Amino acid sequence: MKRENFSRKRQAILEAIRGTQIHPTAEWVYQAVKPQYPDLSLGTVYRNIARFKEDGLILSIGVVQGQERFDGDVHPHNHFICSECGAVLDLTERYLYDDVHQILSQKYGAQVISHELIFRGVCKECLEKSKSSGQKGA
Ligand SMILES: [Zn+2]
Ligand SMILES: [Zn+2]
Repeated sequence: MKRENFSRKRQAILEAIRGTQIHPTAEWVYQAVKPQYPDLSLGTVYRNIARFKEDGLILSIGVVQGQERFDGDVHPHNHFICSECGAVLDLTERYLYDDVHQILSQKYGAQVISHELIFRGVCKECLEKSKSSGQKGA
């Protein structure tokens, strides 16, 4: 009985990560699942996230503004990170040739399996915010 509750919690944590595009933090996942499982602890969320990462069910985007961000979409895609608000956006375009892994593998005598591209800058919302506050002179 207890065990079933545990695996349902696990499933709820995974679904929370998969069900959003915001590339959440562990804290966000905790807040999202907590109403459903009031006895949930932040430690449980961290432990499950570590397991999901190991099992390849989710990806880590790295640390943004001091907090690690996660992605429930494990298909190859690139990211844009806003340095103002910390938003992590998906980029669906492909920027590298399909044979880049093969070219690099040959050149360095290694076996390249995957790559990640992260673009950084200021997102549209933050640009508009700074524009309008500039007009007000604030
Ligand atoms: Zn932003
Ligand atoms: Zn993503």
